[in-house]
Amino acid sequence: MKGLQNSLQSNFLKRLLYFGAAFFLYLYPMTYPWGDSRPYNSYNRYFREKFGSRVQKVTIDAGFTCPNRDGTKGTGGCHFCNNDGFNPSYCRPEMPVSRQIEEGISFHRWRYKRAVSYLAYFQAYSNTYGDTGKLERLYREALACPGVMGLVIGTRPDCISREVLELLRELSEKAYIHVEFGIESVYDETLALVNRGHDFATARSALEAAASFQLSTGAHFIFGLPGETRQMMVDSASVISRLPLQTVKFHQLQILKGTRFEQMYQDHPESFQLFGYEEYTDFIIRFLERLNPAFVVERFAGEAPPRYQVTPGWGMVRNETVVARIEKGLLERNTWQGKLWKP
Ligand code: SF4
Repeated sequence: MKGLQNSLQSNFLKRLLYFGAAFFLYLYPMTYPWGDSRPYNSYNRYFREKFGSRVQKVTIDAGFTCPNRDGTKGTGGCHFCNNDGFNPSYCRPEMPVSRQIEEGISFHRWRYKRAVSYLAYFQAYSNTYGDTGKLERLYREALACPGVMGLVIGTRPDCISREVLELLRELSEKAYIHVEFGIESVYDETLALVNRGHDFATARSALEAAASFQLSTGAHFIFGLPGETRQMMVDSASVISRLPLQTVKFHQLQILKGTRFEQMYQDHPESFQLFGYEEYTDFIIRFLERLNPAFVVERFAGEAPPRYQVTPGWGMVRNETVVARIEKGLLERNTWQGKLWKP
């Protein structure tokens, strides 16, 4: 009887301690180096701090091409690339940039029912690939649109000249300018295998050049490209962490229709080790632990519409669900972005 009483008391004490600790954390949540209680350096916090409000990107297709498509570097493009898979419906290159922005803002106002600040996102193809005069006209047209606080300009590392960097620096004196480089992998063999048309050294030089012009930079990487093991991808965190970057975006490889990968997948599906949803979130947690905590993470996963995908992908799993699962996993394992990072 005495033993039972003792055991009940000890269980009660354990529960009391558990709830006490949970209540304490609720009242005084742990604050990470980036200044909030989320276990990774989130894009939302970064923008709330920068602009004092929620920020929404409005995607633009300004009618650019890219040297890996127009014959300068190649004609087929990168084997994974189908820009249509990521272009919203209001994004049509035949419309002027200002009109696309106007339609994009109306769409987001209708969808989110609240006012936010906007960034014009030059996303499709390589948006620094062209005559500097034309670039300046397009960028200024976007910046002149009401509600637009700045530009995010997506490009390739081999499409950035000194002249363009000078233009961007000038624009950055009055507006937020962020250059987003598609890098995709830190391994030259992978870049060659996906027909990227540049190596990793080119990506590093482009980032260093942009940083020397005090420009804010971001980079995009794909996980699950053929030829890379899971361990190679985890190890790439230490290489990426040493780049002069402010933001990073990650996607799992999705095989899209109309790409060279579609054909390769039909012929040799065994060459692809696509991530399942659970495996990917687990992988991202391991990767994040090794990632520089100063990097703001903009995206963990891609969400191409199912009609563009060759494989079933992750079904109807939305980006918010992926983020919530990663965040929960980090908290459960008592880990966070940069916990294992060695500067
Ligand atoms: S991914 Fe970018 S660089 Fe590669 S083909 Fe597509 S637009 Fe060109």
